[in-house]
Amino acid sequence: MDQIISAINHWKGRITHSHIDVRAALIDMDGTLYDSMRNHTAAWYRLMTEQGIDCTREEFYLYEGMTGASTITRLWQRQWNKIPDLQLINDLYFQKTQYFNQLPAVLPMPGAKQMISSLLKADIMTVLVTGSGQPSVLDRLNNDYPGAFADSHRVTALNVTHGKPHPEPYLKGMEMAGVKYWQSMAIENAPIGVESAVASGAFTVALTTGPIPAETFAASGADLVLPSMQVLADIMPELLKHLRL
Ligand code: CA
Repeated sequence: MDQIISAINHWKGRITHSHIDVRAALIDMDGTLYDSMRNHTAAWYRLMTEQGIDCTREEFYLYEGMTGASTITRLWQRQWNKIPDLQLINDLYFQKTQYFNQLPAVLPMPGAKQMISSLLKADIMTVLVTGSGQPSVLDRLNNDYPGAFADSHRVTALNVTHGKPHPEPYLKGMEMAGVKYWQSMAIENAPIGVESAVASGAFTVALTTGPIPAETFAASGADLVLPSMQVLADIMPELLKHLRL
C-alpha cells in the first residue's frame, strides 16, 4: 500500500495538473500482454548475425519498444556508419517476422487477462500502444482479450510518425480514448517504452518481465515498478481506488 501511495506522489510531483482521475489504461503489447520477448530477441539475433552485424541477443531487450525500422537503422549505423534504405528496411523486417513466426507460438503474459478484466470491470478504457507492426501477434488480441482493444483503440507501428521513446505513441493513445495525461495510466515492460510513457505525462507502471533490473526502470522515470504482471493484476483494484477521484 505504501508503494502505491509513493508511486502516486511521484506522479503528482512531476505533472502540473491539479488533480488526477484515471479513465484510460494505455497498454504495451510485447512483454506486457504477451510473453513474446524471448522470441523477438531470438529472431532479431538470428537476422542480424546472418547480416554480419556484431551483436548480442541481450541487447535486443534494450531496443524493445522501438519500431523495427529504428532497430535496423541503429544497428546499420553502428556497424557500417550507413543509413539503410527503405526497401532494405522492409525486406529485413519481413525476414525478422518470418523468423519470429517459425518459433513456438507466444502465450498471453500470466496475469494479463485478470488485469484487463479488472480494468474493464472498473469502466477504464483500454488502448493498445505498441511499436509492433507484426500481424501474427496483433491478430490474436481480439481472441485473447475480447472487447478490450477495438481497432479504433490501437496505436501500432502503422499509425505513428515517431516511435517510442518519443511520447507520440502514448499521446496518440490518449487522443483515441479522448482523455488527457492526468486521466491516463500506462503499462510497460521496457525502458524505451517507459521513457515514452513518462514523457506523455501518464501514470507509468513498469513491469520487470525480462532481464532488465528494476533500477533501470526507476531511472527511466517509472512511477511504479513491479516484479510481474501477476502482481499488477492482484493490486489493480486497490491501485484504481487511489487513481480515481
Ligand atoms: Ca514491450
